[in-house]
Amino acid sequence: MPPIVIAGSGLAGYTLLKEIRKRDATVPVTLVTADDGTFYAKPNLSNALAAGRTAAALAGASAQEMAAGQNATVLPYTRITAIDTQRQRIHSDGGELEYRQLVLALGADPIPHGLAGSGAADVLTVNDLADYAAFRGAIDGKKRITVLGGGLIGCEFANDLAHAGFAVDVVHLGGWPLERLLPVEAGQRLADSLTVLGVRWHFGRTGKSVDAVADGYRVVLDNGEVIEADVVLSAIGLRPRIRLAQAAGIPVGRGIQTDRLLQTGAANVYAMGDCADIEGLNLPYVQPLMMQARALAATLTGTPTPVVYPAMPVMVKTPVHPVAVLPPRIDAPGGWKVECSDTGVCALHTDATGRLQGFVLTGSETGRRNALVKELAV
Ligand SMILES: Cc1cc2nc3c(=O)[nH]c(=O)nc-3n(C[C@H](O)[C@H](O)[C@H](O)COP(=O)(O)OP(=O)(O)OC[C@H]3O[C@@H](n4cnc5c(N)ncnc54)[C@H](O)[C@@H]3O)c2cc1C
Repeated sequence: MPPIVIAGSGLAGYTLLKEIRKRDATVPVTLVTADDGTFYAKPNLSNALAAGRTAAALAGASAQEMAAGQNATVLPYTRITAIDTQRQRIHSDGGELEYRQLVLALGADPIPHGLAGSGAADVLTVNDLADYAAFRGAIDGKKRITVLGGGLIGCEFANDLAHAGFAVDVVHLGGWPLERLLPVEAGQRLADSLTVLGVRWHFGRTGKSVDAVADGYRVVLDNGEVIEADVVLSAIGLRPRIRLAQAAGIPVGRGIQTDRLLQTGAANVYAMGDCADIEGLNLPYVQPLMMQARALAATLTGTPTPVVYPAMPVMVKTPVHPVAVLPPRIDAPGGWKVECSDTGVCALHTDATGRLQGFVLTGSETGRRNALVKELAV
């Protein structure tokens, strides 16, 4: 009998492997991954400086240790190049492999920054442990970091870098950080707190070009403003890796489309984690992928189980002014009621009857998170 094949060794792929093993100690599982297969927690990449941890310190079990610990075959440095959904085979640079079920846990790629200039190719992104090792090498002994993008990951890096003593500029198209998730009062409070830490904001701006100069880089913004930097980090967002699925004729939208059983449009092919659109929702966070892994492990071991999500707030790891967000559904009725105190902001999204639909808490108000999650669950 061919194995269950998991494509990808990120938190999605490895969490699924562990969940399968909780249910079935012996079903053959092969995990195929383009990287070295080291287990690590990706969220730690954006607060490792404050925690005093290097890339090596963030690395958990190796591919070999994961294979031994989970009674599985793990094939590192093996990039899947095509999926034959008819013959149930994957093609990779390591050869062909037949699957009984295939799970695509391929993650997401950084969105290209599109900047012109002689330094454009030197702009870094941090989306995995190897990127982080390169980033730490690049900032060693340097002082001035320009971060492109003031979303969740950009803000987290800005906080971590500024806290560690770097001079940080953040270039952000929106009028305040995380403007798609936070009402202006909450976003402004986060921006102000990061400013106190030394972060310089460039709101309503995008980068136009990056040129390599004698002592670093010259970043030119769309209004002509110039920022001198030693390192430029792009954190403008990620987009689900859909190309393999698309080339195999599997329906894709923003991500690889699945139903609540995580089944794609191809028989015996599933998708989860950052690469998946589950009933139209791409949720690129850890808690959703944990829920997906649990449900899918049950399905793959004989008990078809749709994924069900509890209320899942996202914590923004900005210790200078932490933020907890639980966005309301896009079509949720009602509006925001925002209350500000000296130490934080509490924004509640309620409908006409006062029923809670979502929330944003900042600073000291984040202490109310669990109570509000309970209220949402009622
Ligand atoms: C800096 C940072 C901080 C974050 N902080 C938080 C946080 O605080 N809280 C939170 O909930 N979420 C956070 N996130 C998001 C969270 O980390 C991701 O949602 C999660 O790690 C995604 O896991 P994944 O396994 O789906 O993808 P990935 O970790 O990207 O794994 C994809 C895997 O697929 C493999 N792969 C890709 N293409 C191929 C191929 N063709 N063949 C074989 N293998 C392939 C890759 O090598 C990799 O092993 C953060 C993300 C970043 C970048």
